Amino acid sequence: MTARKDWDTYFMDMAYMASTRSQCNRRHVGAVLVQGKKLLGTAYNGAPMGVPDCSEAGCMLVEEYELVRGEEGEKVVKKQRCIRTIHAEQNLLLFTDREDREGSVVYVTDQPCWTCANMLANSGIKEIVFHRPYLKDSEKVTTLMERKGIGFRRLESYEPPAGTLTEVHH
Ligand SMILES: [Zn+2]
Ligand SMILES: [Zn+2]
Repeated sequence: MTARKDWDTYFMDMAYMASTRSQCNRRHVGAVLVQGKKLLGTAYNGAPMGVPDCSEAGCMLVEEYELVRGEEGEKVVKKQRCIRTIHAEQNLLLFTDREDREGSVVYVTDQPCWTCANMLANSGIKEIVFHRPYLKDSEKVTTLMERKGIGFRRLESYEPPAGTLTEVHH
């Protein structure tokens, strides 16, 4: 079957393509900004320009407790997180203009963390579309988006393009 890809799939594919540029071993996140059907920016998680990234200097790890949904329901587990990188969503905001963002849509491979969601909520965008869930901050992020009237949806049946998923340690 050669059905043409819908726009959601098309732009989420672009976000996954962007995520392949990440040099962090722990998380590859990509995000794109879309106005109408036009791509206005792409970003991935990475260290600030001109300083060593995770592949050169190693990840900068902190330990945190995270809510994980398993077979027996939700449980809290200790996880390591890399804080060397600027998150993809934040880089996207750094490299796009406020006027361009008004009423635009962000496609991001992973459900935004609280900090990114908070910034996106103040960035002028009207909708966030994500693929992989991130349960740790999900409840408060969902509440925030409802309050702000920002669309927030997950592409449940989406399949990332072959070759864009890299082995990462969580
Ligand atoms: Zn890293
Ligand atoms: Zn984030």
